[in-house]
Amino acid sequence: MWKFSDIPYQRPDVPKIEADYRAATQGLAAATSYAEAREAYLAQDRALRGFMTVFTVAGIRQTIDTADAFYEEEMKFLNRAMAQFSPLMKRANEALLASPFRAGFEAEYGGELLTKAELEQRTQSEAIVADLVEQSDLEEAYKLLVASCSVEFRGEPCNFYGLLKHMEDPDRSVRRAAFVEWANLYKGVSERLDELYDKLIAVRLRIADKLSFASYTDLAYAGMGRSAYGPADVEAFRRQVRQVIVPAAAALRQRQAERIGVPSLRYYDENFVFLDGNADPVGGEDVLLPIGRRMYRELSKETGEFFDFLIDHGLFDLETRPGKHLGGYCTYLPDHGAPFIFSNFNGTSADVGVLTHEAGHALAAYAAARHQPIMAYFHSTAEICEIHSMAMEHFTYPWLKDLYGAENVEKARFAHLAEAIAVIPYLVCVDEFQHRVFENPGMSAAQRNALWRELEGAYMPWRDYDGNPFLESGGFWMQKQHVFLYPFYYIDYALAHVCAFELYGRMKDAPAEAWADYMRLCSAGGSKGFFELLALANLGSPFADGAVARAAGHVIAELDGYTWPKP
Ligand code: ZN
Repeated sequence: MWKFSDIPYQRPDVPKIEADYRAATQGLAAATSYAEAREAYLAQDRALRGFMTVFTVAGIRQTIDTADAFYEEEMKFLNRAMAQFSPLMKRANEALLASPFRAGFEAEYGGELLTKAELEQRTQSEAIVADLVEQSDLEEAYKLLVASCSVEFRGEPCNFYGLLKHMEDPDRSVRRAAFVEWANLYKGVSERLDELYDKLIAVRLRIADKLSFASYTDLAYAGMGRSAYGPADVEAFRRQVRQVIVPAAAALRQRQAERIGVPSLRYYDENFVFLDGNADPVGGEDVLLPIGRRMYRELSKETGEFFDFLIDHGLFDLETRPGKHLGGYCTYLPDHGAPFIFSNFNGTSADVGVLTHEAGHALAAYAAARHQPIMAYFHSTAEICEIHSMAMEHFTYPWLKDLYGAENVEKARFAHLAEAIAVIPYLVCVDEFQHRVFENPGMSAAQRNALWRELEGAYMPWRDYDGNPFLESGGFWMQKQHVFLYPFYYIDYALAHVCAFELYGRMKDAPAEAWADYMRLCSAGGSKGFFELLALANLGSPFADGAVARAAGHVIAELDGYTWPKP
């Protein structure tokens, strides 16, 4: 049986892949029948699958050991090769869209293939290459600037992430001191962040203009494959969040203050959930993986086979080690039909999240690859992908006793659900901020901060920065990397939370139906549009009137039912 670690790596013959791909594109353009056009399209698909597989293998190995000079060099080579490849993909799209056999493709694969190709066409052009380079240079400058920020805290050098960990300390004075350093660190680079953001806004507007989009917002929606809904739908969703979720989150914050025994909740108290500490998992990889295996075998036949496949083929790298890249991700090897999960276990609930959330992404990739005929359908848009992962977090609640220990089940479940409710107002706040910024791109830095402060008041009325002048004047948005690096990608999580809540409600009432709905969604991959995929899973539109209240009402009621001992 093959293992990930044994997959041989050989630098791909890029000129040959390009030649094959080009020939297939010419074949598509010159086809005289649908059968010929289809054969040419599938030849493109095969060439790309092989290339993507090699690319992903090298990428995983480079993150597993960042000191490995061989894969560092290979990734440089592959990144350059991939950049050269993108004009070829644009030409392939053009050939598909211009094909007289479009109707044949539509009949066999559905219209989504053409919809995706059209959206991609609109967002690509030779005319913006220099602007894209400028944008990525600015993004790199942002990453370097933020990564270079460090301060000594309690005798140790701390970056933003390190200070955030101290903001969960049981000692409130430590939390407060870490918070002050954290805010000062941002204030120290705020002028440079403002300058970078001004330049990013300018280049993004220029790109939208060259691509003939009416606004950058429209371009960003197209770039994220949002073909089914627009900014007006998202605005309606945010309104529902203000009406339904914000009061519930405010009540949760109030109860949190009582639970942890503080007169009023400051920002540096928000991540401190229980006086006697958060629920932590029962062990590391050696303990959690066997629990995960049993859990997925008990959950369903499909998940049992899926998780066995991951373990049997060594498709995990979970424990943290020196030299390993930070963070976690789930990726996919098309030629092997295999997902791969990468993480840095740290002994907190995030480790359970890897076994549930990331495994949800992995299951979806695994299922789509076995049900979808073409690679274009292996992945969906981000809001759908996050339903795969968030719903799995709910489906695995019955095993919290194994993952956290029976005595911690209540705490783990409450903290998980409360966090899901509390984060939604913040998600949509970041979203509205970006819409408003690109509606009024001439805003000064001070006006942007004032806007953030105004939105914070609407979405997070409980937010209390303890008089910190930088944050009280609206500097908090600067800590959100999505604003700089992934514009307009954030509402996706809020939409997915609401859809996952709806499915979670069905898990309570009709678990077998909920599971069938979920597997249908995962297996469909990206083969349909947003609303069609939701319908396939018997989920309503999160934009519809009353949708947020319907989906989240039972979650809010469940949270209301928990009682905690008074300090
Ligand atoms: Zn995710």
